[in-house]
Amino acid sequence: MAARLFRGSLRWWGYRCAPPSRPAARCSHSGGEERLESPSAKKLTDIGIRRIFSSEHDIFRESVRKFFQEEVIPYHTEWEKAGEVSRELWEKAGKQGLLGVNIAELHGGIGGDFYSAAVVWEEQAYSNCTGPGFSLHSDIVMPYIVNYGSEEQIKHFIPQMTSGKYIGAIAMTEPGAGSDLQGVRTNAKKDGSDWILNGSKVFITNGWLSDVVIVVAVTNREAHSPAHGISLFLVESGMKGFIKGQKLQKMGLKAQDTAELFFEDVRLPASTLLGEENKGFYYLMQELPQERLLIAELAVSASEFMFEETRNYVKERKVFGKTVAHMQTVQHKLAELKTHICVTRAFVDSCLQLHEKKRLDSATASMAKYWASELQNRVAYDCVQLHGGWGYMWEYPIAKAYVDARVQPIYGGTNEIMKELIARDIVHDK
Ligand SMILES: Cc1cc2nc3c(=O)[nH]c(=O)nc-3n(C[C@H](O)[C@H](O)[C@H](O)COP(=O)(O)OP(=O)(O)OC[C@H]3O[C@@H](n4cnc5c(N)ncnc54)[C@H](O)[C@@H]3O)c2cc1C
Repeated sequence: MAARLFRGSLRWWGYRCAPPSRPAARCSHSGGEERLESPSAKKLTDIGIRRIFSSEHDIFRESVRKFFQEEVIPYHTEWEKAGEVSRELWEKAGKQGLLGVNIAELHGGIGGDFYSAAVVWEEQAYSNCTGPGFSLHSDIVMPYIVNYGSEEQIKHFIPQMTSGKYIGAIAMTEPGAGSDLQGVRTNAKKDGSDWILNGSKVFITNGWLSDVVIVVAVTNREAHSPAHGISLFLVESGMKGFIKGQKLQKMGLKAQDTAELFFEDVRLPASTLLGEENKGFYYLMQELPQERLLIAELAVSASEFMFEETRNYVKERKVFGKTVAHMQTVQHKLAELKTHICVTRAFVDSCLQLHEKKRLDSATASMAKYWASELQNRVAYDCVQLHGGWGYMWEYPIAKAYVDARVQPIYGGTNEIMKELIARDIVHDK
């Protein structure tokens, strides 16, 4: 019932706020004045705050929060042991309307605005459950298919991905090529109208459970620069020669399936090419700012979660006959953390607004990713410290939040690469 109601309300925004290219641009803000911003809210994770959202987003957020509380949190420990979440969860998320939220209805998505997608990212971060790879599926993989795919590809993949029956992944990184994507060796050679794909990928999120993977491959070794000889392919699970390696054992993100993928003479029909031949690098450059903004959003949301978790803890825990929160040094540390988080939140919210208006540039997205992911790690460090020995115990949420934070400055382009992109923008004339 609730699911239908919220799907309904998302569709209603899409209808009321046409044109479809920017479905909710004019009605996604509340107007502002009556909503508190994070610093003045009772809790940083409160529903009903921040002027980028409206009361419709609040209703949607309530349903998303309930979903994570009921369908994810109780099972997460089990999934951490398994190294993957259940497929059933994906289908439940699909039924609830939590996948493909910001994909237009006409393509088979939910048709909500960009802020609604952000609500799902934030609520997952507030649940402290990093297992489900929903955001990568919905807000990284699906946009490639919608933005560059043929009508047939969109029809084939998007409705199934929205329903959670098909899980998406994207495979750029290789054992010898991460930061330097132009060093990719996986290649596809023409054979008649087909392509023959060979190579391997590593560290692929959703890789083990994936039904469709966007694979980055070299298609023209003779191109005047490697960037001009790269294409994207939609490779489906079950294709002959597509082999999934083991699920990788990671420091954190224990319930997220991260895998190696191998391609041994995989015969790909021409219809699997995504977009135009040799335009792959250009497509990656177009889509990476959204990926970086997503990481920044997850980072500041995880920081908000850790702050609230720690605030509760220090108010309960007694030392020397008083609560930990009674110590002035602890109060100052909390003041410092809250200030840093709220300042970052303001910047990330402004990036969300810019992106919603299609005005977020690569350097600004890189600043958000670099800044917020480093903040997340500093917050994680301090919050574990404020928990004392209990903060080091896996049963305490803060321990999990600490290890999960570590990858954020690494993936989506390392923070060193983010600084490189910011620096280029500073030094070179636009
Ligand atoms: C959990 C996890 C999930 C991931 N999910 C995916 C996924 O779904 N799909 C995918 O394609 N990839 C994924 N990745 C890969 C990730 O994007 C890469 O690991 C990342 O881009 C870094 O590449 P690398 O590991 O090859 O490191 P390297 O490129 O080898 O970097 C090593 C070090 O050198 C530094 N460095 C490199 N170049 C420069 C430079 N020009 N200037 C300064 N310093 C530099 C780096 O910052 C880093 O500190 C994932 C990784 C992890 C850990």
